[in-house]
Amino acid sequence: MNLKKHTSTFLFVVIIVFFATSVNAQPARDSIDWQRYQDMAVKLMQQYLQVNTSNPPGNEIAAAKFLKAVFDEHGIQNEIFEYKPGRANIIARIKGNGNKRPIILASHSDVVTADPSAWEVDPFSGEIKGGYVYGRGALDMKGEGLLHLMAMILLKKEAGVLSRDVIFLATADEEVNNEGALWMIKNKAELFKDAEYLVTEGGDNLRAGDSIKFVGVDVAEKAPFWLQLIATGEPGHGSRPIADSASNRLVRAMARILEWQTPIKVLPAVEKFFKDIAPLQEEPWRTKFMNIRESLKDPAFAKDLTNEREYNFLVRNTISLTMLSGSKQTNVIPNVATCNLDVRLLPGEDPQEFLKALTAVVADPTLSIKNVNTFKPPNSSVVNTELFETIARVTKAHHPEALVTTKMLSGYTESQLYRQLGIIAYGWTPIYTTSEENEGVHGNNERIRVVDVRQGTRELYEVVSQIAR
Ligand SMILES: [Zn+2]
Repeated sequence: MNLKKHTSTFLFVVIIVFFATSVNAQPARDSIDWQRYQDMAVKLMQQYLQVNTSNPPGNEIAAAKFLKAVFDEHGIQNEIFEYKPGRANIIARIKGNGNKRPIILASHSDVVTADPSAWEVDPFSGEIKGGYVYGRGALDMKGEGLLHLMAMILLKKEAGVLSRDVIFLATADEEVNNEGALWMIKNKAELFKDAEYLVTEGGDNLRAGDSIKFVGVDVAEKAPFWLQLIATGEPGHGSRPIADSASNRLVRAMARILEWQTPIKVLPAVEKFFKDIAPLQEEPWRTKFMNIRESLKDPAFAKDLTNEREYNFLVRNTISLTMLSGSKQTNVIPNVATCNLDVRLLPGEDPQEFLKALTAVVADPTLSIKNVNTFKPPNSSVVNTELFETIARVTKAHHPEALVTTKMLSGYTESQLYRQLGIIAYGWTPIYTTSEENEGVHGNNERIRVVDVRQGTRELYEVVSQIAR
């Protein structure tokens, strides 16, 4: 080998490495005055929580106007859509060069109602106490919306040229009828339907003390398929029992439903979840979780696993008996008795097939079963994407101990609506709560750690700026 050639090759490699390193380095990352942006984030968080958008009635126009003022102040293009008096969505956009398809940061601006008498502070005070910002919506989901807002401000000021549009979308009425998101999809889809990715609520993270146990990216959700069982029969006096009364037949049917073990099915995202959390388990579960599909063929293990509430819903369609009604009086045998079932179907399930199977289990043709909600077919997003990788990389950089995995949600989020447009939708947020803090969601004393507002501002910006680089 010619020495001269060898040297020049070496130099060439050095230059390439140097060049590649400087290209990969995050632009302007170190020059960002984080202190300033994080102070701004905390202040805006308090203000956003002071906007009362309890739904009902919602009044999300107040939130839209608050957000608009911030966007206007920072020169970010935005538009409010008041689709009916007081109910409004807002969209904002930072344009990229169009090399890649947009990413949407989606949140809902309504919150559930709060009973002030059960709270330590006024639910709409945005008060800071003991390291937390308190307020209805702090976790569900004005906190995440605020991080989205901060990402927009940071992108505008600090990121330079983007490869894709970044779209901020805050919609009304998620907590009741999804009117806001449905209205946008029906009337304004041209503004966002070409997006490649969407990030919204649904991420399921777990903090234990100072360490982050896991960061669950929600890639699939189950779908509510609510049913009502109706039994009718001869009424009478409670002192003279009727063996096949409406309530008796209903209760027998309910007992058969309770006994029914719905079939176990393992979806790819769920398989990955068990594999990812296997190292956190004690034996023998560690080994079993590594190959959950095989392990579940063992009836004893399947029984143990499905006895755990947090795992059971991941591997099957579930049924909860919820509303019950019969007679209004102890001594009256009613002519109608009903029971509502909160059924949750796995992604890919056919509700009519489920209904057929359930009817067979009920095995009583005198009972009728009807669907009592608007069924939205369950769906899921692929896992192996640049976005998932970016979330994992950024999270690991800040929390090396955290496990980043895919967590299917038992509840419903609006990701289901956006996936139907072909958008890859994930539930993810860099807000890390303990199970106790999580109780604040739809409960009392909902609060977000000040440190999560500060650190989350940075982590969310890093993910969005890297995916839009
Ligand atoms: Zn929510």
